[in-house]
Amino acid sequence: MEHIVNQSDTSTSTSTSKKLYERPTDVRSLLATLKRPKRAVVTGGMPYANGPIHLGHLAGAQVPPDIMARYLRMLIGNENVLFVSGTDDHGSTSEVAALQAGVSIREFIDQTHAKQKRTLDRYGISLNVYSGTSRPDCFPLHKELSQEFIRKLYKNGMLEKRVSKQWYDVTLNRFLQDRNVQGKCPNQNCSNESAYSDECEVCGHQYDPSELINPRSALSDSTPVLKDTVHWWLDLWKVSDQMKDWIKSKEGKWRAPVFSEVYSTVLPSLIFDNTHEPIFKELRPSLPKHKSRYAPGRKVVVQFENKGDLALGGSMLKEKGIGYALVDGWAHRSITRDVAWGIPLPSDLDPEMAGKTLYVWPDSLIAPMAFSQVALKNRGDDPKRYKEFWHDPDTKICQFLGQDNVYFYVLMQAAMWLGYKDDPSKLPQAGELQLTDVFSSFHLQIDGEKMSKSRGNFYTGDQLLDEKGYAADQIRYFLALLSLPDKNSNFDFNTFHERNKFLAGPMNAAFEKPIAAAHSRFEGKIPAGRLLEKAEKETMQIVQKYLKQMERAEYSTLLFAIENYARLINSFFTQYKPHDDRFPEEERRDALYSCFYILKNLMIMLYPFAPATMNSLRESLQLPEALFSIDELGCPIEAGHAIGEKRQYFPVVSE
Ligand SMILES: [Zn+2]
Repeated sequence: MEHIVNQSDTSTSTSTSKKLYERPTDVRSLLATLKRPKRAVVTGGMPYANGPIHLGHLAGAQVPPDIMARYLRMLIGNENVLFVSGTDDHGSTSEVAALQAGVSIREFIDQTHAKQKRTLDRYGISLNVYSGTSRPDCFPLHKELSQEFIRKLYKNGMLEKRVSKQWYDVTLNRFLQDRNVQGKCPNQNCSNESAYSDECEVCGHQYDPSELINPRSALSDSTPVLKDTVHWWLDLWKVSDQMKDWIKSKEGKWRAPVFSEVYSTVLPSLIFDNTHEPIFKELRPSLPKHKSRYAPGRKVVVQFENKGDLALGGSMLKEKGIGYALVDGWAHRSITRDVAWGIPLPSDLDPEMAGKTLYVWPDSLIAPMAFSQVALKNRGDDPKRYKEFWHDPDTKICQFLGQDNVYFYVLMQAAMWLGYKDDPSKLPQAGELQLTDVFSSFHLQIDGEKMSKSRGNFYTGDQLLDEKGYAADQIRYFLALLSLPDKNSNFDFNTFHERNKFLAGPMNAAFEKPIAAAHSRFEGKIPAGRLLEKAEKETMQIVQKYLKQMERAEYSTLLFAIENYARLINSFFTQYKPHDDRFPEEERRDALYSCFYILKNLMIMLYPFAPATMNSLRESLQLPEALFSIDELGCPIEAGHAIGEKRQYFPVVSE
């Protein structure tokens, strides 16, 4: 016993620096109380296997989730985070593109996938797996899981069979997917000749497929016809009250545009002509709790809190002679298709559904679970362990997607997830498939315009690196600064250039100054010093902000705050001149010690945004890779630690 006491006495008395290192700072007590998930899954929007990864993919579907995945790995450890994505192979566009390229669809997808994977690697997108829904290592797992979904949905009465009309190619004797038919937009004021079956991307008009003018089959260029066909429709209405309760619990947690879109959709609503408004106004005080608003076409929409209230309110309106319709178009969607290229439906449930496949949306919603199995298998784990990630309420599941896809990832997915449970009427318990959190992005514009090949402002990820000569970290950093979570944002090359000058200038200076001063005045070592109060105080503030905003994937204002924190190093150099031995030595030691403290915190906090650059800084500081950990925030680099030479960090930008 005495021996041990002596030993600890020795260790604290011989080295002042050791004592300083051991001192718990506020940051460390903050980290000790931080709530952490047990595991995490991060997914990015899945590209179609029809072309290269472009700047739009990187901005919304790849870089933001990569930042989240790297942060979560620093928070809970590499082994507890799965970051998965892959190509959405059964999207119809792959089939057409393969046809145009004159190769088999397998060959086409494999080539496209390999190119995409290479680009993602070049941008440091740290996926545990980049798979694809049709790939041989994924397809069997994906098919098994998808068929299990269909069986459960069927058993739980979540599928209804409906007849609808679908485009049919009479020369090829096959049905066509919606996206395989194009024609002239029926909007008289629009001249788009390649409008899709039910939607024009130029004017935004939506219409019935029968209205499309001069429809053409993308597969044969012949004129297709609309033909009756039977499909399974997912009944989202059946679980809408459950979804409403769940979505309500996300208020203030999800991004506002996502929350308001899905919450207003899921509230049970009815619609009637505004000619009934006087009677409706008289009736309002006695109706169950509701909200009303005007809708296009001289209509009034009334939203109730639940389906019970809607039924009661509806009968009261009817009694007063108000004819109304349910607003339930969103709540019934077909989830099967008449094409061979896809996940086949189970053959034993209904003979009429034989030969049909799962629609690409439900297919791609299930896919990340199949990708997770592939990722586990690749690392020598049991694929079935994917349930430890997806079926545990202590797992944080973060899905990044475009704002256009919010309906699918929130509403269609939640209805499928609930329908997969033994009892869809209850929200998931421990051990059941968990509902997920979504992070949406708006559209990326380039130099103020929509990115398109015809405008000449379409950039693939490779082009920006090879032809424009940018470093991946410069692009990652700039994309994270944009306000895509809130609104359409502009990738303006002038602003980008200015930002790169800042990174190569003041930011690099913050990295380089302490390293240079340690070499010139302190034998290449961290001096023994005390932490300046200002450094400690500002670190506490930035770490608090960091933890909060990383959790919410709100990167833009956070990065500006981190940049300000980095300026502290430059201000300590101005004030205490650690590089100039004409100034008081003790102050210089304290300042440089504090600068390295800030530098280490910066290195950790910026790692998810600029991983290659921060890795290079880590090597300069001769610190182990394990230091990329949230628990290292607020821990100074030990005095006496020898550092290496400075290197190139953010690239130099020419005028
Ligand atoms: Zn149009």
